[in-house]
Amino acid sequence: MNLKKVDTVISKAEIENNLPYHLLRVGLTCNVNCVFCNIPMESNVYPARLGLNELKKEIDKISKKDPRPKISITGGEPTVRADLIKIIEYLKKRKTKIIELQTNAILLSDDNLVKKIKKAGLNKAFVSLHSHLPELHDLLIMQKGGFEKCVHGINNLLTHNIQVTLNPVVTSLTYKHLPGYIGFIHTNLPKISSISLSVVQPNGRAMIYKKIVPRYSLIGPYIKKALGLADKFNIVVNNPFCGLPLCIGEWHKRPNRCLEHNESIVNKDKLLSSRPKELSEKMKPRQCKYCQFNDSCNGVWYNYAKIYPISDLKPIRYDQ
Ligand code: SF4
Repeated sequence: MNLKKVDTVISKAEIENNLPYHLLRVGLTCNVNCVFCNIPMESNVYPARLGLNELKKEIDKISKKDPRPKISITGGEPTVRADLIKIIEYLKKRKTKIIELQTNAILLSDDNLVKKIKKAGLNKAFVSLHSHLPELHDLLIMQKGGFEKCVHGINNLLTHNIQVTLNPVVTSLTYKHLPGYIGFIHTNLPKISSISLSVVQPNGRAMIYKKIVPRYSLIGPYIKKALGLADKFNIVVNNPFCGLPLCIGEWHKRPNRCLEHNESIVNKDKLLSSRPKELSEKMKPRQCKYCQFNDSCNGVWYNYAKIYPISDLKPIRYDQ
């Protein structure tokens, strides 16, 4: 793919905004059973539940290294914990700059809970709404009625001025509907201005239901169309570590929206090596050495290369 040189110059503030937060993993217990979950309960990669004291120690450790950290509470599903408010209060006490909650939002359909987490100090929510088509969302999370509760939860968060970023995980069942998803957000959830676009990671349960992993060459045109539509509606879409290599879906035209590219600018060593073990399982085929983004893209998951041909990856080149 020969192209004009892509402008990759971005401001420090822009890079920092796109870097991931510190993760506070509270345990793998969850109230749904996503068919593609990459670290399901049965994996035992993390404990089912960490105690409040263990979590406080973890928060202290993060705060010691970074006095004003941005911390994302993750699971499993953090809202199933009866002590979630105490965790948020402790994060606030330790002067956490931004407190984010990663959630499926099902239990946030209870407005009372949302009021409490807002009062405790929650600033942001990162919500897994996987499809705008209720039957597909419910099928993916394996819970009937999940879509309705999730959207209700999102509306409760927005009503209480908690900023919401959506985190749909693109699957082989949903990729063709992506432009429709963007349209749905614009029409039905107009206060949402950011989306983190993940794609099924071929690990954990997704390796049992391999067909749920989409082939990148097939989803590329739909990603491109969805990104164009999001631009039109002023919705910012980011490409996280669980997203796509830059040569798919024309992400290379938006390098400042790609986490791996931004990390490579902040610190080259961060590429691959600093990732938690379960996330460091990416590889690059030989053709990547001819790509403009060879130093700022981690390639594809090892397991992806076992399912689909990596010849689908076409190096991005520009005329010198
Ligand atoms: S480095 Fe490889 S995987 Fe990444 S964008 Fe370039 S060709 Fe694609």
